[in-house]
Amino acid sequence: MRSFAGIVTSVTLPLLMVALLVARPVHAQESPLSAAVRSSISPERLDAHAKVITSYERPSGSTGENAAIDYVVEALRAAGVPVEVHEFMGYTSNPVSASVTVPGSDWNPDAITLAFSGATDGVEGPVLDMGTLNDLPELEIGTGELLLLRDASTFSNVRGKVVIVTGQPRNIPTLALQELGAVAAIFINPEERLNDLIVTSTWGTPSLMSEHRLPTLPVAQIKKSDGDRLRAMMESGPVTVRVSTEVDTGWKPLRLPVARVMPTDADDSTPYVLLGGHIDGWYHGGTDEGASNAAMVEMTIQFHKRRDQMRRGLVVAWWPGHSNGRYAGSTWFSDTFYDELRTRGLVYMNIDGVGQIDSDRFGASVSPALSALAVETVQRLGGQEIRPGRPGRNSDQAFNGVGLPLLQFNHSRPNAMGGYWWWHTPDDTYDKIDFDILKADTELYVSAISEFVAGPTLPISIEDELSALMDALAQREEASGGALDLSEALGRASDLAGMLAGREIRTGERAARAQEHEALLNILRPIHRIMFVPGSDHHPDPGIYGRPLPGLEAAAVLAQSEPDSDRYRFAMAQLLRERNRILEALDEATHAAIDMFQGRPRS
Ligand SMILES: [Zn+2]
Repeated sequence: MRSFAGIVTSVTLPLLMVALLVARPVHAQESPLSAAVRSSISPERLDAHAKVITSYERPSGSTGENAAIDYVVEALRAAGVPVEVHEFMGYTSNPVSASVTVPGSDWNPDAITLAFSGATDGVEGPVLDMGTLNDLPELEIGTGELLLLRDASTFSNVRGKVVIVTGQPRNIPTLALQELGAVAAIFINPEERLNDLIVTSTWGTPSLMSEHRLPTLPVAQIKKSDGDRLRAMMESGPVTVRVSTEVDTGWKPLRLPVARVMPTDADDSTPYVLLGGHIDGWYHGGTDEGASNAAMVEMTIQFHKRRDQMRRGLVVAWWPGHSNGRYAGSTWFSDTFYDELRTRGLVYMNIDGVGQIDSDRFGASVSPALSALAVETVQRLGGQEIRPGRPGRNSDQAFNGVGLPLLQFNHSRPNAMGGYWWWHTPDDTYDKIDFDILKADTELYVSAISEFVAGPTLPISIEDELSALMDALAQREEASGGALDLSEALGRASDLAGMLAGREIRTGERAARAQEHEALLNILRPIHRIMFVPGSDHHPDPGIYGRPLPGLEAAAVLAQSEPDSDRYRFAMAQLLRERNRILEALDEATHAAIDMFQGRPRS
């Protein structure tokens, strides 16, 4: 059976039509709630919160982080906001120290190790210069778990070496070098600084399915000039380097404050917006992200004061375990409240890095269904035209498996002023925050949140999501050189788009219009999942895929391999399974659309 078109045409569409499904997703008029909350955001109050939060160093699980959490909770409770503090054991890793030396020389550069690096009292090996990150072998991780190293044989010279490479330390290069038998990796920062980072490709608390991806390779980082010096030494002959790394990796009790701002007539099925940002950070974390934490506190308090104007709820979470636990807090919340998020969650908005001094360029990372919302919000409040990008996997995007669409606003500094040069360094301090800019950035969130919590309809566009899906299907088929046939999926997506185009949602005799509109999410969720999650909605993937339909990442293998090779056939088996998942998701979305037209939104 090709599609549900036959079933749909048999549905008697009602005469009473109200909401145009594909209308502009953003409401033409700003809601009174949005205007009131925006005008209540004061730079002085943001400053007061941020001053306290950034006074502490906040690695997750530390006394500093807990003091910041206590401050947030007290500020909320003083304003009468209901807030709960969850506690759980998180698997985190703090870099302690590193040294990089050339035995027999007095060269002793500044060095750091990275969160989740392997630990060693000292390993030695001849240095192998592998250039830049782009020169490293490509490492594919199938649908999340299986390592496939392309052309591993051409990198047999890596075994037993200390590899140096220019670029920020990253998880996949770490895993690739480990698989190739390196004894240590030294990343040379492209700039004259050291940036704290994390090198595991597990996501959240590792599971038995993902623990094999915890690195064992010792990883260090040195500054650009020291990398130049080491390379100069290598010009006069082979150089042996000794690397030692100390990390504090293990379980720590973590606390996660969650505030719930609910409409006055809410019940335990009231849908809500989830807004999150990380409370932990490197060092004093000024713009990454004490400033955002302050914005979250103030928005929560101001929405709470006006909750009688809300139709839907706002849940705000300050995640621990972001920087040294690879999103341990948001992932724990997703795992623990999956069922509630699946039935009540409307959207996940992430806030990070806003309020930077001298910011002048707005941007946004959104899933396709929210692109128009982001564009219109920035146009209305920031006066700039933006082209939103796809969210990466560098923040707390822990809700893709739940199917929540994503939105994050960005506001960046000119590169001519050094860009975000203090990011993940001890220089990310309170003085890097501009509180007038932070107010402007906060107002973007206030406006977008208000569209969701106060509007009669939701500011999402299924049409945009389906259009992005069809583009992605075509691109994946093309990447396979035509070997992977995705025409059935394209046909079903196009039928669904046709079914929705120009149709209107019926106001059922008993159902409220807003409730019917929320049925749109039942169409969106299965599509969001295949667009952002490879393989399994319930088990976090490595978080390395940047393109839509990540489960079809192996399509390119078909174009690059001989059809009778193991590699081709293994890839094809994987792709057929993922294609089945995509077809099932499209059917689920189509069923949800039929239910909606029949006035029976599924919960
Ligand atoms: Zn951050």
